[in-house]
Amino acid sequence: MQTIDSKNLIDHTALSRAAVSVVERLCDNDYSAFIVGGAVRDLLLGKRPKDFDVATNATPEQVVALFRGSRIIGRRFQIVHVRMGREIIEVTTFRGHHEDGAAQTAVKSQKGLLLRDNVYGTLDQDAARRDLTINALYLDPIDQLILDDLNGLEDIRQRVVRIIGDPATRYSEDPVRMLRVVRFAAKLGFSIEQASSAAISQCRHLLADIPAARLFDETLKLFMAGFAAPTIEHLTTHGLLEPLFPEALGAMEDASSRTLILKAMGNTDARIARGKPVTPAFLLGALLWPAVAYKRRNISNTGAEGSPINAAGQQVLAITLQRVAIPKRFSIPMREIWELQPRLEKCSSKRVKSVLSQRRFRAAFDLLLLRAESSDELKATVAFWEEQQQLFPEVVGSLPATEIPQRKRRPRRRKRDQ
Ligand code: ATP
Ligand code: MG
Repeated sequence: MQTIDSKNLIDHTALSRAAVSVVERLCDNDYSAFIVGGAVRDLLLGKRPKDFDVATNATPEQVVALFRGSRIIGRRFQIVHVRMGREIIEVTTFRGHHEDGAAQTAVKSQKGLLLRDNVYGTLDQDAARRDLTINALYLDPIDQLILDDLNGLEDIRQRVVRIIGDPATRYSEDPVRMLRVVRFAAKLGFSIEQASSAAISQCRHLLADIPAARLFDETLKLFMAGFAAPTIEHLTTHGLLEPLFPEALGAMEDASSRTLILKAMGNTDARIARGKPVTPAFLLGALLWPAVAYKRRNISNTGAEGSPINAAGQQVLAITLQRVAIPKRFSIPMREIWELQPRLEKCSSKRVKSVLSQRRFRAAFDLLLLRAESSDELKATVAFWEEQQQLFPEVVGSLPATEIPQRKRRPRRRKRDQ
């Protein structure tokens, strides 16, 4: 294990007081404990860590016994949340190898997917179980040392994202690691090491086995962390867009749709950088808009009954939900943003106030602005709605939620009755 003096490498005053207290108390009780993962990586890069994680040789039960107000959470990975003032520090117990006679606590599926992983081990084993070398650095804040077993420091210097161990095996154990590779490459502006990148094409189909709810959580981390534009480029080049958003694949191959998506992502990133609020409904709405528009045209051409935009939205959403479980609180506004597009296209002065007053008017207008960048016809439409907003500023988005026609709920049948 390489031990490096951390005094000149990181700013120790930027450490969370709470995380250091957790480490101190564990060490005072004869356990070993370190600050690990993203916090060490970000401090080495001079960035402010999002949160602080601690790794220790104490078991979750032993940790809970030391800290009042702490609790064990998680099933696949058991971790302890320790509350220290206003901060919550995640404390994990060193994980070991699965081969070491602990078959009953680590459970793998037939395809090699890790279903449960609560085998405890040593610090070296814990480092080897982590995803990336740059995430496997251990900081001892008391003696101000960094333990680096896997050349993570060198990879930070070289600015490379590298999977620990054999990439295909590690991706098979947990396919979400492929998404983490591109997420960190985009966020840090790092390149992806050759073998870590090459194995993605071989393993990306395994994302089909990941529950749609977990993929939605990962989608938020991919797109709502301020680096959505570079992330979507990485996802596309590595063939990872298809397992998440198959409906967006065609759009990324078409020049004007691709521009619309990258602009939507870039605008969101800029808003996050300025500390402004953002919603996944707009971002995902823009990502899927080209597919909705394409289906809408096809449906219109067939002359089918009903509203083409509603039918198109429903179809695109249904296909997407099979992969990524977008909750209703986002999918309903997404559809409202889409469904307002034909009404905006009309520019009819009779219905102006009714359109302006829709609670999704602003978001729908933002999508119209993006669409107008590749359409002269829509530029005139944008000018019309800009004028209307100036004429009736008090009306914009004024329709309260209760006045929005609610979709009728079908009474839920109880399982037993089916
Ligand atoms: P962020 O800045 O996004 O919080 P992070 O590196 O701290 O980055 P977390 O998701 O908080 O990421 O995970 C904490 C640590 O746990 C990681 O640094 C990594 O060492 C380990 N880890 C997380 N997810 C996995 C995984 N799927 N497989 C292996 N190790 C993982
Ligand atoms: Mg973290």
